Amino acid sequence: MWAELLPVGRSSASGGYRRFAWTAADADCRAWFREQAEARGLAYEVDRNGNQWAWLGDPSAGNAVVTGSHLDSVPDGGAFDGPLGVVSAFAALDELRHRGARITRPLGIVNFGDEEGARFGLACVGSRLTSGALTVEQAHRLTDGDGITLPQAMEAAGHDPDAIGPDPERLDRIGAFVELHVEQGRALDLSGDRIGVASAIWPHGRWRFDFRGEANHAGTTRLADRRDPMLSYAETVLAARREAELAGAVATFGKIAVEPNGVNAIPSLVRGWLDSRAADQASLDTVVTGIEKAAREYAAAHGVDLDVVRESFTPVVEFDHALRDELGRILGSDTELKVPVLGTGAGHDAGILSGRVPTAMLFVRNPTGVSHSPAESATEDDCVAGVNALAVVLEGLART
Ligand SMILES: [Zn+2]
Repeated sequence: MWAELLPVGRSSASGGYRRFAWTAADADCRAWFREQAEARGLAYEVDRNGNQWAWLGDPSAGNAVVTGSHLDSVPDGGAFDGPLGVVSAFAALDELRHRGARITRPLGIVNFGDEEGARFGLACVGSRLTSGALTVEQAHRLTDGDGITLPQAMEAAGHDPDAIGPDPERLDRIGAFVELHVEQGRALDLSGDRIGVASAIWPHGRWRFDFRGEANHAGTTRLADRRDPMLSYAETVLAARREAELAGAVATFGKIAVEPNGVNAIPSLVRGWLDSRAADQASLDTVVTGIEKAAREYAAAHGVDLDVVRESFTPVVEFDHALRDELGRILGSDTELKVPVLGTGAGHDAGILSGRVPTAMLFVRNPTGVSHSPAESATEDDCVAGVNALAVVLEGLART
């Protein structure tokens, strides 16, 4: 399975993945998912929001145990973020069948669409639509960098955009959702564990900072006469680092758009996107408020106008304590694995679903902690340990 997926959407230039929602690479990933489902005789379906499901047993019976993740990627992402959870889901099912495990609850595998938000700027669109966290009107306004709207992209990929919307009946069928994911930090590497269980997802959000100045000639405009938004943007990037360090949080300006974007022109507009996350809401508020305050001071000092727009926000997600404890029990009694419990600064579909469904996450060690980069990795032994842990968890849950 891993070898089949590896070439899909891979850039030969960077070695990273460009599997953006509703593109040709995404279609190849989705075709692969369907093949895996059908090869195993699982009932395959695509829901109204384009998420793919594969079922062992009849999901309409309810109280289903579901696992899975996503197959899309960030720009030049790694091979593991997302696909590891989907491949491990199919592999865990194979393992359970091989063992002749008795499964009395319906068992589902899901590939959530557009988790990374790389194309339309909003993460977890598939699970947000399904849970109602994203309205149809909001979804219709999502636009990619080429001005193509989400409905247009869906339609071009053969999915009916008029069908999108909340899907409470589908979520009501799920009794437990467990997402396996490569760890996106070094906690497991530092503790020496192959597998961990998630405690919570940090609150996180994305803010757009529009610094508007005045375009002018880079050669003939006196420094004193400039209204250069790049200067206030640059100072704001440094302020973000400072505020995050003070609060024990993270803050990143990782995306920027410049107009007119000419090497010999003072910019008229610098648009920077801030991503910030912290262990709790109060810390995150402190960081973002501090960055915005600094940005306004820098903008004023350079005669630059500033607009700050919060584009997305996800509050802290505490995973279901009962399910988390159940996972600890199942893994503790049936395997030699120690299972540390850890928080994470990364968002996931599991976090979106957790408002509606008892949800848990398993993390697989990532020796460098690098993620959203081609350098992301996990050893084969650790991946196999992840599959085995997931199989044990699914079997334990599906029996209860
Ligand atoms: Zn992911």
